[in-house]
Amino acid sequence: MNDSSVLEGVFDRFLNSARVFKDREMLRHDYVPENLPHRTEQIQLLGEIVAPVLKGVRCSNILIYGKTGTGKTAAAKYVLNKLSQKAQEWRLPVRFCYVNCRWVGTEYRVLSALCGALGIEVPFTGLALGEVFDRFRKGLDAHNGVFIVVLDEIDALVKAHGDTLLYELTRVNEVLHFGRTAIVGISNDLRFKDFLDPRVLSSLSEEETVFRPYDAAELRDILLDRAKSAFCDEVLSESAVSLCAALAAAEHGDARRALDLLRVAGELAERESAETITEEHIRRAERRIEHDRVVEALENLPAHSKLVLLGVYLLAKANTARAITGDIYEIYCELCNQAGLTPLTQRRVSSLINELDVIGLLNTRVVSMGRHGRTKKIRLGVPRGMIGSVFINDERLERLIKYTPRCLIGAANS
Ligand code: ADP
Ligand code: MG
Repeated sequence: MNDSSVLEGVFDRFLNSARVFKDREMLRHDYVPENLPHRTEQIQLLGEIVAPVLKGVRCSNILIYGKTGTGKTAAAKYVLNKLSQKAQEWRLPVRFCYVNCRWVGTEYRVLSALCGALGIEVPFTGLALGEVFDRFRKGLDAHNGVFIVVLDEIDALVKAHGDTLLYELTRVNEVLHFGRTAIVGISNDLRFKDFLDPRVLSSLSEEETVFRPYDAAELRDILLDRAKSAFCDEVLSESAVSLCAALAAAEHGDARRALDLLRVAGELAERESAETITEEHIRRAERRIEHDRVVEALENLPAHSKLVLLGVYLLAKANTARAITGDIYEIYCELCNQAGLTPLTQRRVSSLINELDVIGLLNTRVVSMGRHGRTKKIRLGVPRGMIGSVFINDERLERLIKYTPRCLIGAANS
């Protein structure tokens, strides 16, 4: 068979097969559904908190926390969309601006997004932050109504740049003549409060709410609801939905993960012209997603973390019993020399090892060395072949991956 007839077959099979998706868009992360099962209480609470703006009064600032995929972004957008519809109906001067701090990145860009929502142009770079803030303040006064600022993934902004901008934002009402603002902060990190100055914290958390993770039964309801509009009738079996819900609940009750499983399983079924999405498709989707997640994590590691990991990889390949912090540091230094980088201190490398442990790329275990104190035994947390296949595509590492460290020559099985 030549290439053309192979493709002909692929396309014909696709056209003749039953359709899997009715509307794939329904499974996108940023899609805000018309119905959010098991979040009625939170939606009502948020609604009650923001409702005063309909009478021209500033509402309380709100801090929303919860792990990823617990519906924080969806619920906040849902409530604010409805609020602005209501305000429009009644011709009230209420506006809101949604900013995802992690995507936007810097304080300058957060502020310029807020300015943009008030119709104020700010150059992409070049102004002092204070100048941008002045323009923002003037814009608020000119708006002469309530402006709600939604800062999603606010923990990312504060961890990277501190809480100066938040401090200014929580104080801005004191200097406004006409406008009023309220802040809705959303954090995926439950320890976020520890990063805030007490004055900022007390102002930002006038109201607070926590979104708990979903359990398997709740995820099932959510999936069934979303699946109704995403998939053609009869495509999705109940057992497949239950499995998706169970797998996502076992992690930490993440609705995003559950929806991803469903979408990828649907794509696998579509590709092989299957008529239904089965448990088998869900299982394969899980492996695919896990694989992609690890590959992405590996590709995005900083250079020094890659070299630390490569050290553990080379130790594993040499099949030696040696894999304690000191061994890894020795190989790491050698790899740095080979790569033309200056090695970090052993202490820094220890903390890189801890970070790699947290994201699951390494497994560490503290062991006692008797009189010599304690050290860490370190193993790879993912299959060796996977690391090899990612690093071989990294121009800095492709040569080093075949390198034999001096300290390992003749050391195999020692
Ligand atoms: P978070 O902001 O807490 O990380 P999201 O609000 O982004 O979580 O939710 C993740 C995904 O799950 C989104 O696609 C969202 O639409 C969906 N989702 C979350 N909770 C629900 C729910 N109760 N009903 C329907 N979809 C939901
Ligand atoms: Mg979110």
